[in-house]
Amino acid sequence: SPKEQAKAPLTKSNYLLGTLIEITLYDHQDEKTIDAAFDRIREIETKMTINSENPSQITKLNDASGSHEVELSEDTFYVLEKGKYYSEISGGEFDITIGPIVKLWNIGTEYAAIPDPQILADSLKLVDYNKLTLNKDKLTAKLEAEAMKVDLGAIAKGYAADEVASILRDHGVKHAIINLGGNILTMGSNVSGNPWKIGIQDPYHPRNDYIGIVNVTDKTVVTSGIYERYFEQDGKRYHHILEPKTGYPADNGLAGVSIIADKSIDGDGLSTSVFVLGLEKGMKLIESLDNVEALFITTDKKIYMTKGFKAVFTQTNNEYKVME
Ligand code: ADP
Ligand code: MG
Ligand code: MG
Repeated sequence: SPKEQAKAPLTKSNYLLGTLIEITLYDHQDEKTIDAAFDRIREIETKMTINSENPSQITKLNDASGSHEVELSEDTFYVLEKGKYYSEISGGEFDITIGPIVKLWNIGTEYAAIPDPQILADSLKLVDYNKLTLNKDKLTAKLEAEAMKVDLGAIAKGYAADEVASILRDHGVKHAIINLGGNILTMGSNVSGNPWKIGIQDPYHPRNDYIGIVNVTDKTVVTSGIYERYFEQDGKRYHHILEPKTGYPADNGLAGVSIIADKSIDGDGLSTSVFVLGLEKGMKLIESLDNVEALFITTDKKIYMTKGFKAVFTQTNNEYKVME
């Protein structure tokens, strides 16, 4: 049969979930499909945000802390459940109840500043995922102590990416790239049947500079790094991934972590978990799990990878040294 005329990919961007989101379809020309995907992201934002004037299910849960349980939709419950799971398997280095600390730092806003040490110490007592009670039969959640706060910032974008993929699939899309500010999900192969080439962000030159590329098909590539949101004070950088034990930005020698996984919610949960855990413990956690690979970039510009990551990675920036 005559070769079909190659059509330009269909792409649309929107600013949602606090980030630039870009969806590109390579085998599909109906804009309504992309619109349906963005509608779903808007719905997720409405349900899960803590940064809106309108109360979400999560702000209702936070406002009811120490008082009563709150009914949730299935999707919000699922994201909370995943958040609690990553809190557990990271030994609390990821903590879905980090909300009070995130709020104190205000990173990513014009009010970002180092918190008062006493207020920080008091707020740390509120961070404890064991005091998030989930009831799966009733689809309810409760924060057991007053002033506790859940924050889904480390995991909601991954969930949204998975939901977009599911909607695109329902509309017959087989080749697409979903990019939620560093949470990348590839659908299928590229249109020629080859793996997608996804750039791994250079944490020291974040916008459009890569340390290398990975070849992936039907995978998510999720990165957490010191460059995504931060402020500087007295020559020191304070970034947005916080250590629940100290209340300070994780400062363990890592500059970035990239995860390859099947589901973006898992990639997102793990990129943040492993970033706080650090190279050694993070590598151990990844190696204990099936179907996930990781790349670590240290502040002294070394790259460490799991075997499976190495197999799909090509270095493009020689400032970094790949370690065995
Ligand atoms: P990005 O927001 O760039 O995607 P992450 O997925 O790593 O990066 O999520 C960072 C966000 O997660 C922070 O902005 C904050 O809302 C929240 N967060 C920060 N530290 C932790 C932590 N230790 N555990 C869980 N969530 C965290
Ligand atoms: Mg993220
Ligand atoms: Mg994350």
